[in-house]
Amino acid sequence: MPDVRRPASQAIDPTSNMVTVRVSWEDLSQDFLIHDSFLCKSSDFFAAALRGEWRESTERVVPLPAVLPEHFKLYYNWIYTGKIYSAPDGHIEKALKFESGTLFKKEMSSLIQCWILGHRLLDIRFTDTVMDTLILVGEDYPGYIDLKDDLKAIYTETMPRSSLRCFVTEYIVHCCKDKTLTETYGDVSLPEDFLKDLLSGLIEFRPYRIRPAPSMPRWRDDPCEFHEHTREGKPCWTTT
Ligand SMILES: [Zn+2]
Repeated sequence: MPDVRRPASQAIDPTSNMVTVRVSWEDLSQDFLIHDSFLCKSSDFFAAALRGEWRESTERVVPLPAVLPEHFKLYYNWIYTGKIYSAPDGHIEKALKFESGTLFKKEMSSLIQCWILGHRLLDIRFTDTVMDTLILVGEDYPGYIDLKDDLKAIYTETMPRSSLRCFVTEYIVHCCKDKTLTETYGDVSLPEDFLKDLLSGLIEFRPYRIRPAPSMPRWRDDPCEFHEHTREGKPCWTTT
């Protein structure tokens, strides 16, 4: 029987005030109306913006520029349901997988942007949930998903040794075949820090003559290796 019980303290408070998050990307703009208690409990960015005498707090509108509404929509849905609505329809059917490389790639890119969004919103619970979804998508697709188009954002928007950089490096090292590796990532115009991470990852995880290297991605033993909460000394979203 599915476990539907949840702590009463986590229930939506219908008396909580609403706030408008004005999400925009170039000429595109969309408003999201959200209970502020949910936002402030989850995101330190919103908690700070809606605290005290800030203009956002009195006008009840928080602008969020340089974010695609479709990415914030994933955050919005996660806030209310705890689920990540990123999968294409029919993703469960094995037969679809080989024909759906572009759909998996689109989903992976979208999740990468959501991880970056969660990082910007100072919402560790969201970034770690997105990370687990990235791991699932990577494991779910039987081939290899090319992440080259996402590297610029990852290496511009996140810090060295961020969980996202670690995951992407390890995914490429473990899942990309040798020929694809040199054809796709043997490109000196890629971010320099990425090329250094890739080289370190290859040295660390690929087998060589003197000792056997770990042949499995670390997330199979412990996904928390790729979670941000470990860096902040906070509990994992999967245990709370
Ligand atoms: Zn964890």
